[in-house]
Amino acid sequence: MSRDQHPVSRKLLSPSALKVLYRLNKGGYEAYLVGGGVRDILLGLKPKDFDIATNATPDEIKGLFRNCRLIGRRFRLAHIVFGREIIEVATFRGHHDNASKQEKSCTKTSKQSEHGMLLRDNIYGTIDEDAERRDFTINALYYSAKDFKVYDFANGVKDVENKMIRLIGDPETRYREDPVRMLRAIRFATKLDMEISAETKAPIKELSTLMANIPAARMFEEFLKLFISGKAVANYEQLRSYDLFTYFFPAVDQELNKGNQLLERFILLAMENTDKRLNNNQRVTPAFLFAAMLWYPLQRYIQQINVNNQLAPQDAFFAALSEVMPEQQRSISIPKRFQGVMKDIWILQDKLARREGKRAFKSFEHPKFRAGYDFLLLRAEIENTPELIELARWWTDFQAVSNDARVQMIKGIKTSTGSKRRSPRKRRKPKSTANSSSADNSHINDSSSE
Ligand code: ATP
Ligand code: MG
Repeated sequence: MSRDQHPVSRKLLSPSALKVLYRLNKGGYEAYLVGGGVRDILLGLKPKDFDIATNATPDEIKGLFRNCRLIGRRFRLAHIVFGREIIEVATFRGHHDNASKQEKSCTKTSKQSEHGMLLRDNIYGTIDEDAERRDFTINALYYSAKDFKVYDFANGVKDVENKMIRLIGDPETRYREDPVRMLRAIRFATKLDMEISAETKAPIKELSTLMANIPAARMFEEFLKLFISGKAVANYEQLRSYDLFTYFFPAVDQELNKGNQLLERFILLAMENTDKRLNNNQRVTPAFLFAAMLWYPLQRYIQQINVNNQLAPQDAFFAALSEVMPEQQRSISIPKRFQGVMKDIWILQDKLARREGKRAFKSFEHPKFRAGYDFLLLRAEIENTPELIELARWWTDFQAVSNDARVQMIKGIKTSTGSKRRSPRKRRKPKSTANSSSADNSHINDSSSE
């Protein structure tokens, strides 16, 4: 399509992406904007990032840019770094039957697992071949900053217009080469409000078990793209329907299959909150969603190992933690910094219930207080017990009032000791708090989605 037949203009590209395209062209190489950068502009959306394809090899790319890092083993890529922006530049992929020719120069290799999965995909080729190696037709659109044309190799423009996600080539082979394409089909369908074509959809459920071969580190990346994207609920529902959710959270999936509705409502609410926050441009931490996903599996474990209450609650918690975390890590490799925050959120659930003396102030100063409090609101909304609702309300008020009033609130807890509540821990909760405002459930709702 020539310039007057498509909406891709240089103004819509980032200056860095343009710079990379120009520099490659000037160096005598072919260079195209490809993938989401072209697709999203055709859809009238703002691209998330800009990917470039070229016939320059990674080493040649490195020769052209000082700010270039070569990354990846399975798929060698160049990252051109402009401050916070990274432009990803990939050399045209070729067909694997050309492999033998290139195999001799040992850096350009391909390798397949027994399941047909491509363990390495570094055979270089022409732009036509590159287009065939891309996943979906809508992702095989190329824009040239030399002639300003959009090149459509797989009828992607038609699929953009018809809002259709369609794999290039034989779906089963393409999923076997890279099972993550199953996740990508779902992600693009929910993100772009498109449908997955019948042939592309058909083999997913049957091939879902191939996901077991995906390394946990890559699963973490895919978790972020699916769940920290503003579309967590939609992606969750799709993943469940295709039996793919279990490769992210096996323990949660098992509980859901047993019909644990409390757990499902809890994680759905956590995902709704995450989506709302992201759609309002608020910050979220993946740790919150991880903490929510694993909260009930963790509680279940605590109960199991502490049937007779022979362990102190803290010991039971840490014992359960040392089982639940490593088990989850086998599916998704959660970076240490997020594991720390998850632990903080969980520990705060106990701390927030103990408010006497200096304890409330100490919890309030905890660096993760806000996340812990939001988590408490979530629990109160789902479990809906008077104790949790009261506690959530108490903390909502505590944040709203003056320091003097806070001291009074804490005194209020003491005076209500021995009130009608029966269980030993509940004596710490007030029958009614001195400064209790007219906080109700809807208020809890609002606060948790702040
Ligand atoms: P977005 O960046 O908006 O999530 P995108 O389409 O740009 O979407 P990327 O993950 O950035 O997706 O990948 C860039 C391009 O690389 C894709 O459009 C596609 O052409 C190709 N690609 C990425 N992952 C795969 C894959 N697993 N198999 C085949 N091609 C892929
Ligand atoms: Mg992209």
